[in-house]
Amino acid sequence: MRFMTVRPFEIELAGDVRGQSAEKSSTERSHQSTHADIGNDDQEKVSTKNNSLPSTFSGETLENEAIHPLVQLGRQIMDGEHESARENANLNGDSFSGKMSRLGSEYAKWYTEQHMLPTPIAEAVRANRIYIHDLDHYALGTTNCIFIPFERLLRDGYSSGNGSLRTPNSIMTAMAQVAIIFQCQQNSQFGGVAANKLDYDLAPYVTRSFRKHLRKGLRYLGEWHATAAQSSALQQAASDALEQLLDGAQMSNIQIAKQYPLAYQYALEETRSETFQAAESLIHNLNTMSSRGGGQIPFTSINYGTCTSLEGRLVIESLLAATVRGLGHGETPIFPIQIFKCKRGINQQPGEPNYDLLIKAIDCASKRLYPNFANLDAPLNLEHAVTGDPDTEFATMGCRTRVIGDRFGRNHLSGKGNLSFNTINLVKLGIDYGIHRTMPLSSKSHLSMNSADEESSANGHHMIATHPDEVGFLNELDECIELAAEALLHRYRIQAAQPAKASDFMMREGVWEGGELLAPDEPVGELLKHGTLSIGFIGLAECMVALYGQHHGQSSQVHERALSLIVHMREACDRLSERHQLNFSLMATPAEGLSGKFVRRDRQQYGHIPGVTDREYYTNSFHIPVYYEISAARKIQLEAPFHHYCNAGAISYIELDGNARHNTEAMLRIVQYALEQNISYFSINHPIDRCTSCGHEGIIGSHCPACGASEQDVLIARLRRVTGYLTGDYQTRFNPAKQAEVRDRLKHH
Ligand SMILES: [Zn+2]
Repeated sequence: MRFMTVRPFEIELAGDVRGQSAEKSSTERSHQSTHADIGNDDQEKVSTKNNSLPSTFSGETLENEAIHPLVQLGRQIMDGEHESARENANLNGDSFSGKMSRLGSEYAKWYTEQHMLPTPIAEAVRANRIYIHDLDHYALGTTNCIFIPFERLLRDGYSSGNGSLRTPNSIMTAMAQVAIIFQCQQNSQFGGVAANKLDYDLAPYVTRSFRKHLRKGLRYLGEWHATAAQSSALQQAASDALEQLLDGAQMSNIQIAKQYPLAYQYALEETRSETFQAAESLIHNLNTMSSRGGGQIPFTSINYGTCTSLEGRLVIESLLAATVRGLGHGETPIFPIQIFKCKRGINQQPGEPNYDLLIKAIDCASKRLYPNFANLDAPLNLEHAVTGDPDTEFATMGCRTRVIGDRFGRNHLSGKGNLSFNTINLVKLGIDYGIHRTMPLSSKSHLSMNSADEESSANGHHMIATHPDEVGFLNELDECIELAAEALLHRYRIQAAQPAKASDFMMREGVWEGGELLAPDEPVGELLKHGTLSIGFIGLAECMVALYGQHHGQSSQVHERALSLIVHMREACDRLSERHQLNFSLMATPAEGLSGKFVRRDRQQYGHIPGVTDREYYTNSFHIPVYYEISAARKIQLEAPFHHYCNAGAISYIELDGNARHNTEAMLRIVQYALEQNISYFSINHPIDRCTSCGHEGIIGSHCPACGASEQDVLIARLRRVTGYLTGDYQTRFNPAKQAEVRDRLKHH
């Protein structure tokens, strides 16, 4: 029996989700998977006809159909032939550790599909209606991502598991510890790790460095007069006064600057140089310390930009300068994703305290693609902002995940994150209910008013609709939302049942707020309710073409429909939150691994539909397709309204050509226009090529303009961005669907 291996909380769920007997669902599923075996998606190479394992078997003589596909999968991975090798652009699927990680991950997916997923959900996944992200972590109950409370961890110290660390006494040590904390946290979850206000978090350690340098300056530059001629009482008093002065010393203290100009100047210069070096080593560390199989480095994101103290400003300035400088040979750093937080009154107009840093951020983005830009003034992002509490300022995971609102009152960012997300295939729904759908003549009586004037097709047995069936579409969309939500809830119960010790560092050190109070064997349970459960969507553009014949960039009526569809989805998420007393939210899905999978399977079912299934990928979330010619301003105007409803995160991109490197004024105008239009999170893409022979960066054709090396002889690394992350060279690290998407990108002017 298939349910013998499941844990109690699943059995409890089996009744309410499946609503049918295990026997029946087992039969139905066998039928489904036999059908799906025609497909070539890796998730479906596994048949479920017989789930009982033979007590003994050898790989060579194996006849068992349930195990055979799994063995085949293993061989493909070991031989480096499996498509999962390119699924994640930042994992080296050809390496030993990468293959080891794939083996574990593919087995975990197989196990989940065969033995854990409630039947209706497994069927919806097979039917290509919904997609469960990070399925390999489903059975384990791992959670997705987090904003780390760096301020508290640095202030109070923490234990890495092998030893404890004290609060740092300088910015150099503090930045080293930031890298260590990122790494410690990385394996507690499967997604990204982020700092939501690194400028505020690190400013106190710049102060500590400043005091240290000031002490040295005062001692050796002769500005502190305690002479041997003084009585010992006087000397003691002088020394006490010195300590008192140092205890309260800040970089902004004008009194110190006036009274001890040499020591102050010395301390200032030393602190600047130390902070820059610390930032440089942080960025190097975050690009070198691989902590997951396949040489993956932590998926780190850092947000900054609004701290206006001299110390906080120095942190921001140093991070930007170190990023511009690049890695060892001047390469563009892939990590961390950097996000500059834009806020009116702080850094948007000349005269505002951090305006100069915005200009530096733009300059950095023109050379290094990062930072991206977060819009703190967008109405959605102001909802929970409390003046004077930077932990309530909007920040984002680099990939776009957004967590602020919590129905249980933790309306700040650090100490929580997203738990998991599932994505709905809008395109398939669009095809099923759109203008080119075919249906048997007998179904005519069930059609909605919208489809009144169908035409008969050539064969006489089917007809082709000329109007979409909007009612049918919405009904099935609602059904998909319910299924996606059921899957999130099922997974949530698995996650909540895990003991604190499973996520180790995250709970023990209270990286997830409150985790420090749990005993190692205690389930994390209730604590997770502060996180978010996200429902995503992909291919709004192709969905609109399937429904109406045009996408939302081509027609304002279609744009209106597209927007009301997203509003509908958001309202559904809000209702789910009420009904289940959990934080459901709507995500504009970044779709690295998913983009090609959905379309490949839909094409098998429906064939090539122009503008719908005829490319290698579906368009990201609500984006205007990358192949559609449109101006930058228009793209921003059209995408902006969608941001407001995607409370689990969204990003918009503008594609510029290679001249962006030299036109920072144009970039500034575009960023500010996007902010004015209330885009929540924004980024500018432009191509960066790098000659690996001489290190020249810019736009490189077939020959390097600096050293003349030919593309035939030398690798020209072509750095591009997909789904929020940069990757070394898109032609070798991206999966084919994303390579195709990058080739299709038109520039916006
Ligand atoms: Zn060169």
